[in-house]
Amino acid sequence: MNKNRYYSLNAFFRNTFGNKVYKVSIAGGFTCPTRDGSLGTEGCVFCNPIGSEPKHYKPEMTVTEQLELATEYVRERHETDHFLAYFQDYTTTYKDVGSLEKMYREALDFPGIRGLSLCTRPDSISEDVMDLLKDLSRETFVWVELGIQSGCDVTLLRMNRGHTVYDSEKAFEKLHSRGIRTAAHVILGFPGESRKEAMTTVELVNKSGTAGVKLQNLHIIKDTRLAELYNKGKVNLMRRSEYAELATDFIERTKPDIVIQRVTGEAPPRMLVAPEWAINKLAVMNRVKRELMYRDTWQGKHLGYAMEDIPSIQ
Ligand code: SF4
Repeated sequence: MNKNRYYSLNAFFRNTFGNKVYKVSIAGGFTCPTRDGSLGTEGCVFCNPIGSEPKHYKPEMTVTEQLELATEYVRERHETDHFLAYFQDYTTTYKDVGSLEKMYREALDFPGIRGLSLCTRPDSISEDVMDLLKDLSRETFVWVELGIQSGCDVTLLRMNRGHTVYDSEKAFEKLHSRGIRTAAHVILGFPGESRKEAMTTVELVNKSGTAGVKLQNLHIIKDTRLAELYNKGKVNLMRRSEYAELATDFIERTKPDIVIQRVTGEAPPRMLVAPEWAINKLAVMNRVKRELMYRDTWQGKHLGYAMEDIPSIQ
């Protein structure tokens, strides 16, 4: 019997590459349209972009220098030589296509790099860049993570995202029509959102045709607008058990062929204001797994799928 209650990233990597693959974080000196003045300068209310820069990163470092450091650590710890280069600072498709191609290819040329993982916004991939990603997707493994965050326009507006649900739908459509693999980045627990809005978001994920979803509970990060509101008592946060219940509701409504890349996010402890329980990622993951078992539910059950429909490690 298939014992996986959701389609994990580990299972997907093993089925795709024949072994475990580790994402190594690198930065490319990016910015984003809500910070560079194109759409605004304040950024999303929950974001302190320093939190998404890899620990080892210094602005003068090349992609190769970063990969040397990042892979050395993972190589020693896990005795592996299989990596995905994960560009994760700001909006990593938001540059001219020539600079991006140079940067992505430099990463792909590094020993042990099996492909690219790129985090970005739905409104920040130009047609030229999409065409580049189409070409790269034919040559190697590419996974574009779209920060759709929510399926509700009111939330996106409140969070100062600067894009709409329609932008998310269009981005999925354009990327998929070029054969580019995507994943959706979703945050659960935004102010003003309840279970109902989270269920709207999972419907968007299912309809999009995406190959993956990354779940994260809302973090309050230092030096953000959201931290100011939280300190004034204007933001309510979920308890760990409430998050586990909501994440489980989400998972049991997610189609079983969508990889659940993660069930909770991680904030650097030095930057986290609240909730305190978010520091212990493993405990949150275990709580979600327990909730799945306790309910005897699994990914897609609510859509009528059997547990055997979830791909297992071959
Ligand atoms: S969440 Fe992304 S798009 Fe929003 S401000 Fe931060 S880096 Fe920019």
